[in-house]
Amino acid sequence: MIMTKKEALLEIKHLKAYFTVKRKSMKEEKKVIKAVDDISLEIFRGETLGIVGESGSGKSTFGRTILKLVEPTDGEIIYKGQPIQQLKGSKLQTYRNQMQMIFQDPFASLNPRMRIGAIIEEPMKLQFTLTKEQRKERVKELLHKVGLPEDAMQKFPHEFSGGQRQRIGIARALAIHPEFIIADEPVSALDVSVQSQVLNLMMDLQDEFHLTYLFISHDLSVVKHISDRVAVLYLGRVVEIGAKKELYANPLHPYTQALLSAIPVINFDEPKQEIPLQGELPSPMNPPVGCVFHTRCPYVMDRCHQERPELQEENNHQRVACFLYDK
Ligand code: SF4
Repeated sequence: MIMTKKEALLEIKHLKAYFTVKRKSMKEEKKVIKAVDDISLEIFRGETLGIVGESGSGKSTFGRTILKLVEPTDGEIIYKGQPIQQLKGSKLQTYRNQMQMIFQDPFASLNPRMRIGAIIEEPMKLQFTLTKEQRKERVKELLHKVGLPEDAMQKFPHEFSGGQRQRIGIARALAIHPEFIIADEPVSALDVSVQSQVLNLMMDLQDEFHLTYLFISHDLSVVKHISDRVAVLYLGRVVEIGAKKELYANPLHPYTQALLSAIPVINFDEPKQEIPLQGELPSPMNPPVGCVFHTRCPYVMDRCHQERPELQEENNHQRVACFLYDK
C-alpha cells in the first residue's frame, strides 16, 4: 500500500516503443505500430499502479519495455535514480533480478514437464548464492506463503487448478526477492470467485515483502480492487492518471468516463447511464491525428482534429489529456 513519503522507484520519461511492420512488397508503404507513444509517469515505492485500457492500447508492451524485454525506441527509464539504458551484462542482470513478471496464463507460463519445486527453484539457481539445501527450504517457505502445501513440490502443473497455478507463478516471481513486480492480466483467466483470492494474496505479499506493483488489466473492477493509483491508456498514450479514489469517483477524460460507465453496478437508487463508445479502437498503425480519442469522443471539438492534448494537472494530482480542461 502507498507509503506516507512518496519516493519514485521508477521514473518513465517520454517512453516510446515503435515496431516496423514487414512490407509485403517494395511498393508498399513502410508501416509503423506506435505501441507505446510518449508515456511519462512515476511509479512510487510500495504502491500499486494500475494500467487499464482496451486490448491494443499498448499496456503489455509498456510493461515489457520497462523490463527491457522490448527495446525502447526513445525515452528514458530511471530506476532508483539511475538511467537503465546503458546497463549491460551483470548490471543488466541485477536490474532484471529486481523485477519479475506474473503472466496472464499460469498454465502456459509453467513448464508442463517440470515439477513445481524445480519451477520455483529455477530463478534461484541462476543467482548461485544458495546451496541446494537452502534453495529447497526457500521453495517450501514460498509455497507456504502462497497458501500451497509442501508436497506440491513433487507435482506437475497439470495437477493444479488455474488459481493454484497462478499461486505457483507468484511463488516463482518472489523466489529471488524482487522489489518490483509487473503483473500482466494475472487474474483474467480465472473464475471471478478465485480472482479476489489471488488479488488478496498479492496484496498481503506486497505488505509483507514491501513490493511495488505495476498491475496491467482491461478489467476496471479488478484494477479498482488492488490499485493505489490508476493510469488509463489509449493507443499507447496515457489519457488520465490519478489516485484510484478520485479517478473512480470523478473520471475526467471522456474515455475514462465511458469505460467506468460500462461497469455493471447493482444500485437501483442510483441508476447509471452508460456512455457508449462510438466505433472501434483505431489501429495503432494509423492513429488519429490530433487527440487520439477524437474519432470516438462525444465532445469532440474542431481543435481536437489537429492538436494533441498533453497531460495536465486538474485536481489533487489527477492529470488528464483533454482540451475540455484547458485553462
Ligand atoms: Fe474529446 Fe477533444 Fe478531449 Fe480528445 S481533446 S477527449 S477529442 S474533447
